[in-house]
Amino acid sequence: SSIPRTRNCEEKILVTVRIRPLTPRELANYELFAWDCTDHNTVASTNLNHDRHNSTYTFDRVFDPYCPNRSVYEQGARDVALSAIKGINATIFAYGQTSSGKTYTMKGIAENCIDDIYAHINNASGSRFVLKFSAIEIYNETVVDLLNRDSGALRLLDDPEKGTVVEKLTEEVIKNSQHLRCLIATCEDQRQVGETSLNDRSSRSHQIIRLTIESSLHDESGRVKSLLASLSLVDLAGSERAAQTNAAGARLKEGSHINRSLLTLTNVIRKLSGGKKTGHIPYRDSKLTRILQSSLGGNARTAIICTMSPALSHVDQSRNTLSFATSAK
Ligand code: ADP
Ligand code: MG
Repeated sequence: SSIPRTRNCEEKILVTVRIRPLTPRELANYELFAWDCTDHNTVASTNLNHDRHNSTYTFDRVFDPYCPNRSVYEQGARDVALSAIKGINATIFAYGQTSSGKTYTMKGIAENCIDDIYAHINNASGSRFVLKFSAIEIYNETVVDLLNRDSGALRLLDDPEKGTVVEKLTEEVIKNSQHLRCLIATCEDQRQVGETSLNDRSSRSHQIIRLTIESSLHDESGRVKSLLASLSLVDLAGSERAAQTNAAGARLKEGSHINRSLLTLTNVIRKLSGGKKTGHIPYRDSKLTRILQSSLGGNARTAIICTMSPALSHVDQSRNTLSFATSAK
């Protein structure tokens, strides 16, 4: 069976921003809310924000603190996620500083995706679907299998057909939606097992959950047509790990405070959204971007949900996030 290319136009990255509520602890500390969501597309700094330019930022969608996970999925991820059923690779990212709501948001995306994908599969009579699941963590440029931590650091290999693959990565065939839920929960537990200082590790590591969707259907002439694509759900390291260096012209240096994968990803996204179809895109500069190469740019579809804290004490990081989000549009 062949793997047809069903689409060859380059589509824009779907860029949305989600502002979380103040947490109970922030409320107890009398933190102030520093942003206005003036409409469904705009976020603006308030007077509190001491922003001399009174900036407003516009995106495909802005989700206010009352927006439930379901709506974030529907308006910020759904179209991109479902393209994987149609044979188009898709990636959905959460980008933002530590504690801005990335994990909360990606959990919501994953849950809604499961229901949606299975609803689609159960409705598609005459087609057969095989779903596979894998999950990795990238920490200090080391790739770990979240379904089998014992296998240690995994190598990346260049496969002439599949592109970059993770060697010896566990791939589970998913039996049903309940099984998929269990696999995701296992990864969440696994992600915490290795943590010495919980906050520190999860703020420095990237988690990628990947569903591979293979479908075969009969076309009008009765021939069997096969489609193969993957959906990657990515919970990124805290964006504070990239901010300093991006401001300084995005030169990649070795250093403990610099997250190579995060920095390279922001460079790749900027290049892709800058409309440069030629020119060098530095996928090979990090593990994260090598692994995601076939799911970013070109034929793939991408959604980025930028999460931010509403707190006045976090405005600098929030501005960095908004400026990254702007550059990704
Ligand atoms: P991150 O993964 O970016 O470090 P978390 O997802 O862990 O951030 O969120 C930090 C805290 O804020 C958690 O306690 C989480 O439950 C809460 N939170 C984040 N986003 C929301 C939201 N949209 N609504 C309610 N609580 C949220
Ligand atoms: Mg997190």
